[in-house]
Amino acid sequence: MKALAWMGKNKVEMIEVSKPKIMEPRDVILKITGSTVCGSDLHLLHGTVVELQKGDILGHEFCGVVDEVGSEVTKFKKGQRVVASFQIACGDCYYCKQKLSSQCEKTNSNTIENAMYGGRTAGMFGYSHFTGGFAGGQSEYTRVPYGDVNLLPLPDDVPDEVGLYLSDVLCTSWHAVVDTGVKKGDVVAIWGAGPIGQMAADFSLINGASRVIMIDQNWRLEYVKERYPNIDTVDFSALKKGESVTSKLKEMCNNRGPDVSIECAAGEYAKGWAHYFEMMLGLETDTSELVNEMITSTRNFGRCGITGVYVGFTNHFNIGSLMERGIRLIGNGQAPVHLYWESLLKMIQDKQIDPLKMVSHRVRLEDLDKVYYKFEDKADGMQKVFVET
Ligand code: NAD
Ligand code: ZN
Ligand code: ZN
Repeated sequence: MKALAWMGKNKVEMIEVSKPKIMEPRDVILKITGSTVCGSDLHLLHGTVVELQKGDILGHEFCGVVDEVGSEVTKFKKGQRVVASFQIACGDCYYCKQKLSSQCEKTNSNTIENAMYGGRTAGMFGYSHFTGGFAGGQSEYTRVPYGDVNLLPLPDDVPDEVGLYLSDVLCTSWHAVVDTGVKKGDVVAIWGAGPIGQMAADFSLINGASRVIMIDQNWRLEYVKERYPNIDTVDFSALKKGESVTSKLKEMCNNRGPDVSIECAAGEYAKGWAHYFEMMLGLETDTSELVNEMITSTRNFGRCGITGVYVGFTNHFNIGSLMERGIRLIGNGQAPVHLYWESLLKMIQDKQIDPLKMVSHRVRLEDLDKVYYKFEDKADGMQKVFVET
């Protein structure tokens, strides 16, 4: 079968590999019908996740049709349309029982993560050996462990092009909004106007925000202005002398700043691991500018959430601002998909949200390698892509 593999720093390739087989009785083999590329895949393309190995099959957002089920799978049978969660949960452990499935204690045995962070997160499809080394879904077939837990049936009125985004984007954006505590009347600022930021903006308004301001640059904001007319923007690439994102936001929000700020950009991710090692050698420089910008922009006793992916350690962190002004800084973590996907499916069916607004392109699996490079350059206004398989 065809699969998209990481082949070294900034290199991906379509390769031929054998079709996956049932390995455990709770496995499902999925025939993929749709997948997509995510901002997180760019972190992998750049090789910033050190546990990538050449030939690793990428892709953590996908949907498909059940092709084969293991002997202990009870909820699914061949031919059923489903979407997969990007994280692999066991369904039985301490966190899974509370549906905080991104923290499943069973599916990721990475010990570096345990030692560095004081605990580990769940296994993830197509996200290197850092998250368990599970093959991804940018391929014709994939193996889904604990199939009964990690697949959600897609009803007939929800096409693949829409249901696919329940695997990650919708759950991540909704979690960012709920977990950072957006409530009625709040002014919300969102850094990063990619798909995650766009849906977080939509969800903030659904949760009663009185105003949403998105911070990003040029074409991304053009895309937002066209499709989300109720949203204000700050273009960080077009600031005048003496202006900063913080000064603009204060000016727009009664000289105090937004009530809630959410980081959906992770513009400095690429420095993460390198900085961990630099810190160990005592050479560390500042990695937290974007997070500091968010903290200093937010009003006193406001809330800040981090959804963009960061790794490793950082210093030069504005702890004084947190203490003196009572800013609540919340790490949103990897979003627990299982907590939200059923209610989000209902929001789609009730037409409360339209995930298609963030989809800019449709391509075939065979062309996916080219899409990665275009996505990287943000060429052709490319953002969310539906990959037909
Ligand atoms: P994306 O790459 O499409 O968008 C990121 C946007 O951030 C870009 O438009 C970029 O121009 C903007 N940006 C970069 N630096 C900025 C800065 N200094 N100020 C303002 N904007 C800036 O990514 P996406 O798919 O929308 O994902 C966004 C982030 O969310 C990524 O880091 C991704 O890894 C992360 N993510 C987290 C989870 C989770 O569960 N926590 C899940 C999925 C994705
Ligand atoms: Zn993703
Ligand atoms: Zn578990």
